[in-house]
Amino acid sequence: MSRTVMVMDTVATIECYGDNAKEACDKAISEIQRIELLFSPWIETSEIYKINKTAHLSPVKTDPEVFKVLERCIEVSEITGGAFDITLKPLKDVWNMKSESPKVPSKEEIDEALSICGYENLVLKDGCVSFKKEGMALDLGGAVKGYAADRAAEVIKKAGVKNALIDIGGNVYALGESPKKREWKIGLQHPAKDRGEYFETIELSDKTCVTSGSYERYFEQDGKVYHHIMDPKTGYSADSGLVSVSVVGKSSFEADMASTAAFVMGQEKFLEVKDDFDIETFIAVDKTNNWKRY
Ligand code: ADP
Ligand code: MG
Repeated sequence: MSRTVMVMDTVATIECYGDNAKEACDKAISEIQRIELLFSPWIETSEIYKINKTAHLSPVKTDPEVFKVLERCIEVSEITGGAFDITLKPLKDVWNMKSESPKVPSKEEIDEALSICGYENLVLKDGCVSFKKEGMALDLGGAVKGYAADRAAEVIKKAGVKNALIDIGGNVYALGESPKKREWKIGLQHPAKDRGEYFETIELSDKTCVTSGSYERYFEQDGKVYHHIMDPKTGYSADSGLVSVSVVGKSSFEADMASTAAFVMGQEKFLEVKDDFDIETFIAVDKTNNWKRY
């Protein structure tokens, strides 16, 4: 049984095998949609939307599930020296990468946006969220697809299905074994080649693989590439020398944050903090398309 839906601004596909596959698929899709309704920065009833609207005025009492996710995101900001940061929405808005003809903002616009970014201006206390500065806003685009993949995997297991594949915009969670009765094989997209051309294949069972890359969402201006993973220190696209990072582990939430952080930090700096994440290995691809597994 397989289902595909548009969710979280991407495509999600769930495949389930064996008894109860249909029910498990439906439940997993509902779970991902439930998470979108909690975390979307655009849906007016979401927890994140509510926080973004009023957390500069007074502390916003927040759903405990969302609060827990935010707490871990802030820990990750601390671990990574701010390379991973969920408060970059003002910067993301200034770059407006999703517009039809994106262009590089002025230095003034970037500096102004950066002045209201920064996880240290986010206060989490007694289940409430507040902002130290007006104009601040959260964007969990670098973490929530992974979180949703974990939750979907839980729902599928609870429904009694052992073999399944979850893919939320490239955040993959593989449960059990594939229909070929062996570990799931996941291809890692070659950054410079056509879609479906892989530089490596990895095997997963009850594990996740999450990739962050600069080769999918980007635009070019004056011969320079600008992509959607931002370096909070500069306000420009991260430029650590990597074009893609894939992270493997048990937690897709951790792997999602780790892949974004590693992309921003580069492999050497990220190696220093890798053990503070609940992840197993990562594969980094540099600008010359050389890759290495750590
Ligand atoms: P994708 O969403 O394409 O799978 P990522 O998981 O790396 O890739 O997340 C990129 C998204 O995360 C961006 O679209 C943006 O919403 C957000 N983001 C960008 N830069 C950062 C950063 N330095 N820290 C945390 N989130 C970021
Ligand atoms: Mg990520």
